[in-house]
Amino acid sequence: MKTVAVLGSTGSVGTQTLDVLARLKDSFRVVGLAAGHWSPEFASQVAAWQPRYAAIAEHGTADSKNADTSLLVGATALERLVEETTPDIVVFGTPGLVGLAACLAALRAGKVAAIANKEPLVAAGELVTRTAREHGGAIVPVDSEHNGVWQCLRGEETESVSEIVITSSGGAFRDTPIGDLPDATVEQALKHPTWTMGPKITVDSATLMNKGLEIIEASWLFGVPQSKVSVVLHRQSIVHALVEFADGSIKAQLSVPDMRLPIMNALMYPQRVCADLPRLQIHHLGSLTFEPIDEIRYPSIPIARGAAEAGGAYPVVLNAANEVAVERFLDGEIRFTEIVPLVAETLALHRDDHGGSIEEILAADAWARETCSGLRRS
Ligand code: MG
Repeated sequence: MKTVAVLGSTGSVGTQTLDVLARLKDSFRVVGLAAGHWSPEFASQVAAWQPRYAAIAEHGTADSKNADTSLLVGATALERLVEETTPDIVVFGTPGLVGLAACLAALRAGKVAAIANKEPLVAAGELVTRTAREHGGAIVPVDSEHNGVWQCLRGEETESVSEIVITSSGGAFRDTPIGDLPDATVEQALKHPTWTMGPKITVDSATLMNKGLEIIEASWLFGVPQSKVSVVLHRQSIVHALVEFADGSIKAQLSVPDMRLPIMNALMYPQRVCADLPRLQIHHLGSLTFEPIDEIRYPSIPIARGAAEAGGAYPVVLNAANEVAVERFLDGEIRFTEIVPLVAETLALHRDDHGGSIEEILAADAWARETCSGLRRS
């Protein structure tokens, strides 16, 4: 039986991870759960799973914690949870860079970091992959496209990969006339055509910045330059990734768009089991379509590629500025079409080209947040 900790357990990925773990009860023991703050939902998770440790990132107290669970509180709580429990697998469903120190702790202990959010690899790809290499830790992708690539790459050599293709549904505005986008409302942006996710990532799907970030994520995960990673518009969200090899052969990974599938794949690797999750009815699937991405409709893609090429802390700034800009859109402060230009403006103001250590990453992150928050829109 493997031990597992779920960080960000009340979020979208966290709750789906616990759903999967409930189906695989004989294979895993949950030793740690972590959330942003103590809530009735987190309390019921702790009561149900009885982990050795529970952690909350913000200050606060537990009202109904069970006696066998120790509570860790504060900024370093997640990292301490990983160090105290040293689980075989740590699932990161934490937002932003909240889980970065804990991710490094898991990798330093030679464990598996199952990473669902893009930020640790986008902002700290060099640091995270180096830590894994030096300490024998493993990074396992849970992000659906990257999990798909990872499945396609099994048994293959990196040198034989000629292109990695990740798919995009095109988000909420894939068929909206470009001229109507400045008037797009928050409510419209939050209607994703195929996936159910949190609000921030749903807006990122509408701007396609999620794909910009995923290009950088894939580049670090699979050790290929960003120029070898491309995005294709695939409306059905059935094919999650394709890998083309030197001989022209292409492998693809298909499944229903349900996050529990990549989560289960990451947890059970290298085994495959049936956990009664939805399956594709391949005989009734009908047509699957693939279209090129229109970079005028989606300027986020070339901007993300530019940040990846510039290297250093530019990807940190890209990610942090995007978070602030999306927040400003969700708050009704800026228009939908101002999100990506604000990110571009913040990148243009960035001068520092460092970003190798965790301190430098967090400093660049803070600078970008402050800068992007202060940028005025007409
Ligand atoms: Mg994804």
